[in-house]
Amino acid sequence: MKITKIQLHWQILIALILAVLFGYFIPSGIPYVGWMGDIFLRGLKMVIIPLILSSIISGVTSMGKGKDLGRLSVKTLLYYLSTSTLAIVTGLVIVNLVKPGVGVELGFTQSVEGLSESTGSVRDILYRLVPDNIVDAMAQGTILSVIFFAIIFGYFITQVEDRYKNPLKNFFDGVFEVMMKITLFIIRFTPLGIFGIVAREVARNSDQLANIAGSLAIYSLCVVGGLLIHAFISLPLIVRFIAKAKPFKHFSNMLTPLLTAFSTSSSSATLPLTMDALEHKSGVSNKITSFTLPLGATINMDGTALYECVAAMFIAQVYGVELTFAQQALVVVTALLASIGAAGIPMAGLVMITVVLTAIGLPLEGIGLILAVDRILDMLRTSVNVWSDSCGAVTVARSENEETNVAYAK
Ligand code: ASP
Repeated sequence: MKITKIQLHWQILIALILAVLFGYFIPSGIPYVGWMGDIFLRGLKMVIIPLILSSIISGVTSMGKGKDLGRLSVKTLLYYLSTSTLAIVTGLVIVNLVKPGVGVELGFTQSVEGLSESTGSVRDILYRLVPDNIVDAMAQGTILSVIFFAIIFGYFITQVEDRYKNPLKNFFDGVFEVMMKITLFIIRFTPLGIFGIVAREVARNSDQLANIAGSLAIYSLCVVGGLLIHAFISLPLIVRFIAKAKPFKHFSNMLTPLLTAFSTSSSSATLPLTMDALEHKSGVSNKITSFTLPLGATINMDGTALYECVAAMFIAQVYGVELTFAQQALVVVTALLASIGAAGIPMAGLVMITVVLTAIGLPLEGIGLILAVDRILDMLRTSVNVWSDSCGAVTVARSENEETNVAYAK
């Protein structure tokens, strides 16, 4: 991974400033730069299906099989799914209370004419989950179906003989590595993408600039507020009352991986440090860390899940779309799936926003709006992702009656 993070930040910041100036002062030049944003968004869309497919298959096949593993898998998945859902609900409540996107008048080219009535019903969600033709689902970008298929496919890889299982597992691990590299490559072009998209939006909405900047700031505060609540209230309560351990002692043990997650924006890159801190500082056994953490780094992303939900709701608000209860439930489900499918690399969460937007029928163009602040939010949500993985390891360790260094005496 050869992008130095500081550099990318600066590049993005400079691109942003230039884009605002360009869009404001030279609107007639937009046709010459707007295409960069389009190509960037197309690139993100290009990687999404193979990235999700390989990320999930590789994660699920690493769960292994056997009695112990079966029990550990169930506990770990239960923790992962429930904390991610809790994070999403926290985000949903905040974004509904604060409504950061309401009142922003944007001249988006696409307007949303009442979303299809059927988007929310349970039957409809089930229909989307189970494709009648997986190739067609991939071609159409029906991501829920692809995620569902990947989970099933990954699971049944673990159920076949080793001579079939091993090559398949290696193959999908390899595809996943390649897809992560391609995604990082595309992400290097973020400054150009931002320039194209933001310049066009500024030119279109030059009279609304202060308004947009204000609501972006409020949107960012909603994400940050939600992340803080999840990291400093919800997860510590779980550690305290379910794992019966000392959350803040555990937190101080985890400072190195958390700061690394913050500065690299990558749960996967932080993984070795997370494992080390859990084993050598918080005293969780290698058996538990080596099972829960690699899986957690790919599928347990509480911070990303919260972010997906707040971002999608914000975009819906900006488009002036009131989501019904059922549609918001769909946002919760898709944000959860998006966080499961997101790879542990910088800005993967941004790629996955397409999943949620597509599911509720909002135009992908809305991503342009939040692109400018994504990088900084990524640092925070990645830290929360890693923090949740580590709390999960402590919780599972406790349920296996392990004596850790952070547990209260029984
Ligand atoms: N960067 C995050 C991670 O590695 C994923 C995301 O973009 O939300 O955990």
